Amino acid sequence: MIYKKSPQEIDIMREAGKILAATMDRLEAEIRPGVATGDLDAIAEASITEAGAIPSFKGYRGFPASICTSVDEVIVHGIPGPLALKSGNVISIDVGVHFEGFHADSAWTFPVGDVSSEVSDLLNVTETALWAAIDQCKPGNRVGDIGHAVETAVQPHGYGVVREYVGHGVGRALHEEPQIPNYGPPGRREVLSAGMTLAIEPMVNLGGPETEALDDGWTVVTADRMVSAHFEHTVAVTPEGHEVLTRRGG
Ligand code: MG
Ligand code: MG
Repeated sequence: MIYKKSPQEIDIMREAGKILAATMDRLEAEIRPGVATGDLDAIAEASITEAGAIPSFKGYRGFPASICTSVDEVIVHGIPGPLALKSGNVISIDVGVHFEGFHADSAWTFPVGDVSSEVSDLLNVTETALWAAIDQCKPGNRVGDIGHAVETAVQPHGYGVVREYVGHGVGRALHEEPQIPNYGPPGRREVLSAGMTLAIEPMVNLGGPETEALDDGWTVVTADRMVSAHFEHTVAVTPEGHEVLTRRGG
């Protein structure tokens, strides 16, 4: 069952998205060599709660922190802690904001200090894949068009598109139907229509697509331990096309 949102509900999700975007801006300003991922978590929690919202992830299925911090070979669900960032790392920060009964969900991968051109290219291509996927969000298109757009953007570069973790509907629940794979043929799966709110989130690996879950029950790494990137926005499908609810930079 896909829950479509009324314009009033999308207004609330837009507010959640603004709180999230402001939080991501604050986090980006703090990213530098020497900063611990746990420090970023504390900043995010303060930013979200001071805005009158709740961090969606804290306590979600027992997750212990307000954000996910996934460094280098960690694809998603990294747990913040004492790990200090070093120049040459990348850090994917995933933030969820719960505001007046609705969630917004967004992730971004940031370089720390100077990263290799190989890694920089991976970030650029993954962000490009996100925007290509978002461009497919309009009434009458299908969920399969989103994944196909990701795959089409990534394929020429030979990177691995993660298959075990996917995008999703988002709203009163953090994870709603439909599931949104980042691969597959166009023209398949559910038809998009106005009022759907979707978390679009390509996860792309410098090496192969295979993943491995670590023993902490959360951290997901690339099987080959090569770097991974993750870019995510929450998007509302509108009668005219779409609106990015977690857009940063005004
Ligand atoms: Mg997320
Ligand atoms: Mg998500």
